Amino acid sequence: MHQKEQVIAPILQRELGLKLSVPPHFNSDRFGTFTRDIPRPGEQLETARLKAQAILEEREEKIALASEGSFGPHPSLPWLACDRELVLLLDHRHQLELVGQAISTNTNYGQQRVTTLDEAHTFAEKSGFPEHGLVVRPDRDQHDPLWKGITDAEQLQDCVQTLLQQQGNAWLETDMRAMYNPTRMQVIREATQDLVRKIRQTCPHCHWPGFDVVGRNPGLPCAWCGQPTLGILQQIYRCQSCSHEVIEKYPDGRETNDPSQCPYCNP
Ligand SMILES: [Zn+2]
Ligand SMILES: [Zn+2]
Repeated sequence: MHQKEQVIAPILQRELGLKLSVPPHFNSDRFGTFTRDIPRPGEQLETARLKAQAILEEREEKIALASEGSFGPHPSLPWLACDRELVLLLDHRHQLELVGQAISTNTNYGQQRVTTLDEAHTFAEKSGFPEHGLVVRPDRDQHDPLWKGITDAEQLQDCVQTLLQQQGNAWLETDMRAMYNPTRMQVIREATQDLVRKIRQTCPHCHWPGFDVVGRNPGLPCAWCGQPTLGILQQIYRCQSCSHEVIEKYPDGRETNDPSQCPYCNP
């Protein structure tokens, strides 16, 4: 519904020879909307999986692809907003699930209550309007009226003005649907490239695709005292098919940790 195929399909066609078609009349909004008028049935990965499974059930296809985005504070830099995009491939015949991921702090994700038209214009400018769409509503969790996909300055002014007259303020947010958000489209492209990379990463034992990291263990020794720190010592790759494991030591390219990160040398 949100034209993500524009960035996903060419990559899968070129890199994997997969021909993607968008199922007609498939209402992906029933799996939740960014404007929260329809809640998401589960967390991000689960929702992407539900979408892909629905396609396999409704149509006689063997492979389905679904994508799901999520916006909020960055997992390790909570003062920054970030966009986490997943692109999931489900291969029913081979019981194969592969997930490409991209996390980016390059997002216009934001919301604000405004009490004047000037404030609305400032928010719009900061949000990359009109290339990026906006949403206007009475309040964060009030869905009536709900104007989505605003890309026209006059329409923006009309919606805000209506609410200002009615209640003295208006709630503005960035429209995060892909076709109204070119910045998000770019992150979806990166997640698709990550999916291709994962499909190509095969198990050294049985050649099953998607040989990927399943865990990272801390314990990198301190450069001074040699005691284990929280730095990553090794990461573990595991095959989804034969469970073959490979342990990669020093995945971050260093064999000791800085003493400033050591609980003994720098408590
Ligand atoms: Zn294997
Ligand atoms: Zn130390």
